[in-house]
Amino acid sequence: MIHTINNFNPIAIINHAALRHNLDIVKKFAPNSRIWAVVKANAYGHGVEEVTRTLATEGFAVARLEEAKNLRRAGNLTPILIMGGVYSANDIITAVDLNCELVIHTQEQAQMLLRINLTRSIKIWIKVNTGMNRLGLTLEQAAYWITTLAKCQHVQSPLGLITHLANADDLADNLTNLQCQRLRTIPGSETCIISIGNSAGILGWQQTNADWVRPGIMLYGISPFNDASATNKKYSLKPVMTLQAPLIAIHHCQSGDAIGYGGSYVCSRPTTVGVIGIGYGDGYPRHVPTGTPVLINGERIPLIGRVSMDMLTVDLTNVPTARIGDQAVLWGDNLPAEEIATAANTIAYQLVTGVTSRVQRLHVR
Ligand SMILES: *Cc1c(COP(=O)(O)O)cnc(C)c1O
Repeated sequence: MIHTINNFNPIAIINHAALRHNLDIVKKFAPNSRIWAVVKANAYGHGVEEVTRTLATEGFAVARLEEAKNLRRAGNLTPILIMGGVYSANDIITAVDLNCELVIHTQEQAQMLLRINLTRSIKIWIKVNTGMNRLGLTLEQAAYWITTLAKCQHVQSPLGLITHLANADDLADNLTNLQCQRLRTIPGSETCIISIGNSAGILGWQQTNADWVRPGIMLYGISPFNDASATNKKYSLKPVMTLQAPLIAIHHCQSGDAIGYGGSYVCSRPTTVGVIGIGYGDGYPRHVPTGTPVLINGERIPLIGRVSMDMLTVDLTNVPTARIGDQAVLWGDNLPAEEIATAANTIAYQLVTGVTSRVQRLHVR
């Protein structure tokens, strides 16, 4: 979806039909699960207010209390899961006031919850470390806190039990099966509501689709898998964000001319150089190499030389029809962010969340 707009700024077009489509894919893969749509980090850079208005799900998941506050401030009434939990008694009270559900991932958080006086009850998810070794209680601690919190008046029953998959993006790694098994061996787990799967779990590991699933990246039309053949297309996901920027200058260089900072690219033939008005100050990765694809008027052309803060350069020689003001696509429709991520030696998660506030989001509904 190319939008011709009458300005010379980069924009991120956010396609809400694609967002709804991707939610339908989640439902297709996890038909019996309720859905926490993960909208942390400004809905992975897509604009959390607008995204949450479009997604009709049972709940939204964020990382931090601050993000929950923002959603409530914007008038959103859907249940919110704070996946990182909170770290003070005051913040527990705020979370209750905001009608949020809390993850408890340390014993300190659990103790705090036990001691606090609350007038209203709260829904709690006990986070278990089943193999990622990042956040979560041990299996033994989880068993203890299941019985202890079950007796706590201001904690609603049933309790939630939640774990996060470390390697689900690798379909050959058996850790995912182990993680599921470990969760189910916890005494008392059979009395709990369970949530395991992220996007990679949902698409690749049916057994991770428990009572609730937590899709993030797939909602935005990006494949969670590390395997280049498992692209968004394989799962019929549609990219939600198309990042585009205008062609702001065209000039002609001779063989031997060096382009941009450091002159890292030297033309090997007469070259039409196009300058695109987007750079690392907008979130386009600085360290992509020469040859990284850019789309202009539907043609794939190579980026050449170093990415600057406000612009980057491309070899336009094969697109003689290109004119100043034409829009280039950096990723999105017909140019998966996964492909640019590979060129940048990162993952597409980082690209979309890294689009800076200088880039206007244009929401297409
Ligand atoms: C971010 C996050 C998710 C979503 O992961 P995706 O790979 O984007 O689907 C799910 N659960 C937790 C705990 C997370 O932090």
